[in-house]
Amino acid sequence: MSNLLQIEEIVPDMKNWSCVITVQEKQQVTDSLGTPTKKQKFVFYDSEGSKVEGIIFNADIPRMSPMLQVYKRYKISNADVRTIPQKFQSAGLIKQWVITSKTVIEEVDGNEDIMPVKFAFTDFADLSDYMDDKNKSVDVLGVVISSLAMKTITRNSRQSNVQKFVLLNEESQTVLLSLWDDFLNNEGQILLNNMHSYPVIIGRRLKVNNYNGVSLSTWFDSALLVDPPIQEARQLKNWAMRNAKSIAEIIDAKSYIKYNPALSLKRDQKTTLICNVTASQKTAWVKAKLSFEQIFQKYWYMSCARCYRATAADYGMEFTCNSCKEKGAAMPRCRFDVDLIDDSGVIPASIFGDLAEKILTFTGLEAMDHFNQNLELPLQFVHEQLKTKTFLVHIKPVQTQLADTRQRYTILYCSELEPKMSHAQLTHEPESVSLSCDQQAENEQLLTAGHGGSSSKVRLRLSQKFDETETVSTNEFDSPHADSKKKAKLG
Ligand SMILES: [Zn+2]
Repeated sequence: MSNLLQIEEIVPDMKNWSCVITVQEKQQVTDSLGTPTKKQKFVFYDSEGSKVEGIIFNADIPRMSPMLQVYKRYKISNADVRTIPQKFQSAGLIKQWVITSKTVIEEVDGNEDIMPVKFAFTDFADLSDYMDDKNKSVDVLGVVISSLAMKTITRNSRQSNVQKFVLLNEESQTVLLSLWDDFLNNEGQILLNNMHSYPVIIGRRLKVNNYNGVSLSTWFDSALLVDPPIQEARQLKNWAMRNAKSIAEIIDAKSYIKYNPALSLKRDQKTTLICNVTASQKTAWVKAKLSFEQIFQKYWYMSCARCYRATAADYGMEFTCNSCKEKGAAMPRCRFDVDLIDDSGVIPASIFGDLAEKILTFTGLEAMDHFNQNLELPLQFVHEQLKTKTFLVHIKPVQTQLADTRQRYTILYCSELEPKMSHAQLTHEPESVSLSCDQQAENEQLLTAGHGGSSSKVRLRLSQKFDETETVSTNEFDSPHADSKKKAKLG
């Protein structure tokens, strides 16, 4: 007869013990850096709420892993107990049980209890504090209300699948969570199959990225708990079911695919002087004047209406997009260059979509019509107005492929500052000009105007200008793999 003990009582090298545990989380199978070793980690807890790490290696993974399902209770006997070396300890777990094909595991029946485990969730509004920091990750709680299309990305001849899911909290704020590869194959499929029932997830050790202002992504050591038996998760699911109508409206409006200033703009947003902005910063906030009076340019490009990638299709023509693979009509989209100017310097930036239309006071369609009729847009009034305005601008460097060109930036968001605020300290959120800017814009490959043979002065000048095929192509995705710092191209 083995001794039935609690997690705390079980020490390294102990024999002849048993312990009843519940599986709190089950991570993906991962490779160890630079070795052929594969491992899969678990977190177990007992009735006292004590936790221990479970780990399975290599060939034992396919045999033993299916025997341990998340939230289920098991009696485990005589696993190999070790102390985790300090540098590998995480989340306060000090001991490790190595589960091998010899370990005795028996499922224990019983009602599913509420987990006696406390999580420290980060509010959606505080996520930007953790943005783009390799050493920081967050735990979040949210209800999954929708998903975007799955994408396949090729990086260093290795393919990765990624799909974005929309998380909602009780304040009706949304944030996008990218699930990569195994996360998509495992928990992602459960989410997709149960979308109608408002699955609640706890995402553990997620990375915060700057896509859309703020977004989340799985990382190699993340864990996703789907509908975990904890009080807060059940409350949130209940809330979602009571608010099905307003959630349907959120899904319908699709505002979650746009930049969300409520999450990314801080009440006391700090800004950088333009002379101090560098391409190594993932994003920067500046207070600047916008000027494009001196820039001769086309104010639109033909795009896929779904993903905004540039296309050679004619306006209104139904075509299958090479980028998103969706069939749809080609639409002119507003896009132009501006100079961002403050007392310290000037940098060039591009502005896209709704945000660009608001500044330009013309739509992409109007810009196209003028272009096609060889008429210059009447912009004198806009230029005069801009001289009196200062904007709070969120920018991101463009990955440029041309050597010796000036570093360009993409405007993710901009909002006009009230005149008195322009030079003083910002004390409250400025009124925004627009709530939307799709970062998809960055995936655009701008085309040449391509209308050879025109004798029109305007068109000739435009053609010359746009013959320098400008190629802007970066990726919104950050790789979940620690070894890959390079930005991947969309497949
Ligand atoms: Zn497309």
